Amino acid sequence: MKQTDILIIGTGIAGSIAAITAADNGNRVTVLTKTDDIVSGSTSIAQGGIIYKAPDDTPEKLAADIMTAGAGHCWEPAVMQLATLGPKLVEDLLLSRFNVDFDKTDNHLDLTAEGAHSLRRIIHCKDITGRHIIKAIHKTLVEHPNITILTNHIAIDLLTLSHHSKNSVDIYKHPACFGAIVFDANSGATFPIFAHKTILATGGLGQIFLHTTNPREATGDGIALASRAGVRCFNLEYIQFHPTAFYNEHYQQTRFLISESMRGEGGKLIDKNGNEFMQRFHHLGSLAPRDVVARSIQTVLQETSAPCVFLDITAKGEDWLQNRFPEIFTNCLQMGVNISNEPIPVIPAAHYSCGGIGVNLNGRTSFQRLYAVGEISCTGVHGANRLASTSLLEALVWGYTAGNDVCISKEDDDYFPPIYDWVSETEDMDNILMVQDWSSIKNTMWNYVGLFRTNQRLQRAIKMLTELKIEIERFYKRTKLSREIIELRNGIETAIAVTNATIASPVSRGAHYIINNE
Ligand SMILES: Cc1cc2nc3c(=O)[nH]c(=O)nc-3n(C[C@H](O)[C@H](O)[C@H](O)COP(=O)(O)OP(=O)(O)OC[C@H]3O[C@@H](n4cnc5c(N)ncnc54)[C@H](O)[C@@H]3O)c2cc1C
Repeated sequence: MKQTDILIIGTGIAGSIAAITAADNGNRVTVLTKTDDIVSGSTSIAQGGIIYKAPDDTPEKLAADIMTAGAGHCWEPAVMQLATLGPKLVEDLLLSRFNVDFDKTDNHLDLTAEGAHSLRRIIHCKDITGRHIIKAIHKTLVEHPNITILTNHIAIDLLTLSHHSKNSVDIYKHPACFGAIVFDANSGATFPIFAHKTILATGGLGQIFLHTTNPREATGDGIALASRAGVRCFNLEYIQFHPTAFYNEHYQQTRFLISESMRGEGGKLIDKNGNEFMQRFHHLGSLAPRDVVARSIQTVLQETSAPCVFLDITAKGEDWLQNRFPEIFTNCLQMGVNISNEPIPVIPAAHYSCGGIGVNLNGRTSFQRLYAVGEISCTGVHGANRLASTSLLEALVWGYTAGNDVCISKEDDDYFPPIYDWVSETEDMDNILMVQDWSSIKNTMWNYVGLFRTNQRLQRAIKMLTELKIEIERFYKRTKLSREIIELRNGIETAIAVTNATIASPVSRGAHYIINNE
């Protein structure tokens, strides 16, 4: 029997910080990632930066910006925790302990601006901030004597008293999680990992949409695991669509991001005729909140019948651009666009889930012994819309508070009931079904649960997705287990959870925009 004190699912910033914090406190920690490299998920491709503090900053000023962006729907205690503890943890952990090499000018941290921030308070490592942060954290993660890392290990379902215990009277107890069922893609084996406490840190869900900036791993697994177990999720209708992902008609899957900080550094949005258009929609122009910019672009696309708009940063020289945005510069060049002398073609794409598994200030969910941290969680910080560069900070803060909270033990923590054996299937996967099912999920979500929602579109979406789920469950039940089939099952579950949350939210707010409401 595999057993650990703390099971953590995900090796992004949230899972890694939780693991190190819990392990520092003497716990035996097991960390899973579904990829063969521990560097995976959105953290490693985060570009713009992480909030620190401006010289004249205060927690109250940061909190005010977050709450304005969140459209009056933020949970103030969570916002204040982020605004007070966040900059301190950046200092203690990222700067002092992990020595992340943030960019400096004249020996001072280089502070940049992003949309809807009232001050320049974001630190960065050129435009590859996430990669620098996670590599520095992983150095400690892999060397920590109390941490075991299992790559290519995919959590299939949470082990819960109500679903998996052979003791029938466990159903009367408070809902609790005692680990997860895991598929080892290296060996093909499936087995339970029993844990005193389990932390979900599985990242985002962008892959359920046709256009997304998220990596392949972002199939919303944590939401699916939680939904199937009956763990409370909320705010899932608030999907943030990033306004500027690189557009290329031949390249449709993950669209690389054109960072918001490019607009912070003076980049202007123009239509196909070269006209600036953002002032028409918002007084902050190109630096308006993301949802406003994304919907404005979509409106301009409809008005001009164009497939994309453009971001013009040609006012900056080639040397400056190559130095400040090396990754974007190179990626665009590989797609045939030299951003120093021509504007960048861009469209909106699903980028961030503001909602998720509901948690308290320490990452505790509605289930005992179960925590959620990072993008998969909903702390209430983002409300109806996320302020740029708050998500890495939120993952850092809640990874830390959850990593400490799991150390408070309770009597029932080592209750591991007998469970039913796993039954393996043998049929080979039908790839055509897989491709078509994903295409149906992604197109339905993009067209009916995307930037502009209507009741009619949402009703159509839920009907199609519910029917598809029945087919996918049948497909899943008879097919030999693989990462692909597990992700497809999670993708449809998460798509339904997002659509149901959207249907239940009749009022437009922040990132959720519903046109008519008959
Ligand atoms: C292109 C891009 C740019 C961004 N730029 C910024 C930025 O500049 N600043 C900012 O603050 N935020 C930014 N964000 C958002 C931010 O990067 C993410 O919200 C944050 O990194 C999420 O961290 P996480 O630890 O929660 O999850 P992730 O980093 O996504 O990690 C998820 C982990 O879970 C694992 N996993 C998932 N499912 C399973 C499963 N079933 N079993 C086992 N393992 C599993 C994955 O393999 C991965 O290791 C950006 C996002 C994107 C996509």
